[in-house]
Amino acid sequence: MSSKVAHLQGLTLVSPHGCRRQDLWLEGEYFRLPSQRSGLKLSLENTWAFPAFVNGHDHLHLNSMAGLPDPPGFTNAVDWAAWLQKEHDRRPSKISTHDPRRFHHGAWKNLLSGATSVAHHDPIPASIDPTHYLIDLIPIKWCHSLAFAGKYGPGLQESRQGLQPRQAWVIHAAEGTDEEAAHEVQQLQQLGFLDSRTVLVHGVGIRENQRSWVQQSGAKLVWCPSSNLKILNRSIDPAPYLQRESLCLGTDSRLSGSQDLISEMKAARELYPLDGASLLKLVTTHPRRIFFLDGHEAFRPESRADFLLIQAGDNPWDALLNLKRNDIAAVVKGGMPALADPTFASWFDYFGIATRLLWLDGKPKLIREDWLQDFPGWEWEPGLSLHHPETVDE
Ligand SMILES: [Zn+2]
Repeated sequence: MSSKVAHLQGLTLVSPHGCRRQDLWLEGEYFRLPSQRSGLKLSLENTWAFPAFVNGHDHLHLNSMAGLPDPPGFTNAVDWAAWLQKEHDRRPSKISTHDPRRFHHGAWKNLLSGATSVAHHDPIPASIDPTHYLIDLIPIKWCHSLAFAGKYGPGLQESRQGLQPRQAWVIHAAEGTDEEAAHEVQQLQQLGFLDSRTVLVHGVGIRENQRSWVQQSGAKLVWCPSSNLKILNRSIDPAPYLQRESLCLGTDSRLSGSQDLISEMKAARELYPLDGASLLKLVTTHPRRIFFLDGHEAFRPESRADFLLIQAGDNPWDALLNLKRNDIAAVVKGGMPALADPTFASWFDYFGIATRLLWLDGKPKLIREDWLQDFPGWEWEPGLSLHHPETVDE
């Protein structure tokens, strides 16, 4: 671990509780108390520092499955899964869904949008070391759903074995608008599986009377607005969950979700009037609490230094509400830049990190070269390219 200290001067730190001008000191993977030992000073006036985003739900290996037609509407995700399988069988992909390159691509999708921690709802390929990876894979226990428990992934009881007191147990639940979907909540309650570690993904079919069971049990909800609309043509009323701070945002995979977490933030605002602070809670403080991400308190000394620098907008809330992924001037994970504007080249140099110049939606970015080794191919990620967009390949 590096003992070099970097001093970031003149920042405005942004949290759901407000903004304040404050310098940051980074050493190793953590924020530190002010230090005289800094070997690198970066002057960052007019720069907003946001906590890095947390994506509450994704299937990392399912983010590059191009060519599927738009689905008809469904009343239950079980029918959507059957439709998907049929469509997939008609045009099988050349690259298996078990190929780790698919997983890396999903991780990059998240990193490019400022999401450095992700709740991945599937097995992690054996070749991947989650302790040294380009994003943090939140250590959840998961069961696919009541319908698929044991048929895909672990069975219900099995999925909760070894569940720690501060560990989330995640399950797709009530992903539908029919009686069957609503019945799932009742089943989970009867099984005694609704508690403060339970995280329900989707919950569109939760009836009003059932919502109180969910809330009284301390269970939480992940909201995937685009996925809900695409599959079910309906989503949730987030208000009661927001009030109890028991809601976070997730992307789902691009099979049903939108481009990334930034797009989901926009989708959420189209469904419900969220101000900047509420929106920021859904991708920072709430998921940190829901997934028991201890030691990730934003900007606090000795906490993990995962944050974003944004140089756009007249004020931080404008910047957040109108954010595009290439507006993020630096994604910092574990105290070091992972991708950043070329003006931050000295920061990479200071830590001896080799970089590669890439173009993200038309803007140049430096990206850590070691993390690119596993990148499957530029054609996998629309908008990411080795060349300036106006350069014509020979
Ligand atoms: Zn899902």
